[in-house]
Amino acid sequence: MSDSLQHREQGLSFEITARSGTARVGKLHTAHGVFETPVFMPVGTNANVKLMRVDQLKEIGVQILLGNSYHLAVKPGLDVIKLHRGLHGFMGWNGGILTDSGGFQVFSLKELRQIDDDGVMIKSPVDGSKLFLTPEFSIDIQKTLNSDIVMVLDHCPSPNDSYEEAVRSLKRTQYWAERSLKHGVNSWQLLFAIAQGGVYEDLRRLSAQKLSELPFSGFAIGGLSLGEEFEKTLRLASVTLESLPEEKPRYFMGGGSPELIAHLVEMGVDMFDSVFPTRLARHGAALTFRGRLNIRSARYKNDLKPIEEECDCTVCRNHSRSYIHHLFDRGEVLGGILLTHHNLRFMMRFMQRLRDSIANGTFSEYKKEVIDSYVKGEGDGLCSDIAGDALSR
Ligand SMILES: [Zn+2]
Repeated sequence: MSDSLQHREQGLSFEITARSGTARVGKLHTAHGVFETPVFMPVGTNANVKLMRVDQLKEIGVQILLGNSYHLAVKPGLDVIKLHRGLHGFMGWNGGILTDSGGFQVFSLKELRQIDDDGVMIKSPVDGSKLFLTPEFSIDIQKTLNSDIVMVLDHCPSPNDSYEEAVRSLKRTQYWAERSLKHGVNSWQLLFAIAQGGVYEDLRRLSAQKLSELPFSGFAIGGLSLGEEFEKTLRLASVTLESLPEEKPRYFMGGGSPELIAHLVEMGVDMFDSVFPTRLARHGAALTFRGRLNIRSARYKNDLKPIEEECDCTVCRNHSRSYIHHLFDRGEVLGGILLTHHNLRFMMRFMQRLRDSIANGTFSEYKKEVIDSYVKGEGDGLCSDIAGDALSR
């Protein structure tokens, strides 16, 4: 029996190996490997991380990625996934996969859904087909996808929702979490609950406390980084974290800017996902430790330097800023491919540095360095990523 399987059978899917204040380094044991945390998970909504092959994801150090139950249940449909014995086989990916429950689509397709305590009827924006998503059906989809980490269906309120609406979604989220737990996942899958509570501190605390009483393998913080003020995101995340069990993994859903991640890792968040690095790349923005570069800018036309001197990625070893600028200027798809590769490698290097700094006791200094250099660095004025984060899932 593999070590990982033994760990999970003993209910020990997560171990903390180093700490610095409330920040921690850990190991998450799943059916497709052991992942070091804090970890960043690229988003692969339609069974692909846009513009990246799976062998390239492996090459740059991606351990686990995110798939989306709702989108995959609509297209290609579960019958096709079954033919491949799950999402790993379908994608040709043997690393970890976390699947979202569809809860976020419930939130983002506001005009196309009807919601009650039983579940949610969603009309597909792709083909108009209707799908009635219940907590149990969401789990069944994720069992068919055979992901390593299954998320419960939740009801994510909008940051503009009233206190009463936030209470209603909190109660529904709790009820759905209990139903999900009762329904159960495959023995090799981990089931995570999602704390909600809108923009209200007392509701955030209450949601986290109530869910913590249940035997989930991990807990997510949902419904943040949706356009509320940065300081508010941090405060609400902090309140939630204080009420979650310390020994279980904590996942902040949909936050990807280096600044946000550095703050949340300090508070003890272990897992992140966001379309932030890949979406920026397709729009011509490169992430570096000195800030964000808009490679479309004419200032890079004759710039022979790589995107980032210190980066070990194949793009930085072989191509100049000038070349990538030219590709974007001509509307060539390769420009987005090259920047996506670099940006994801940047995220992997960033997370590795965070883990190393926690393990060797230099986290506080490193966090300050990230904030100083990334936010106030020599990037070309696009360094505030808060707006980017609002679009991040
Ligand atoms: Zn690079």
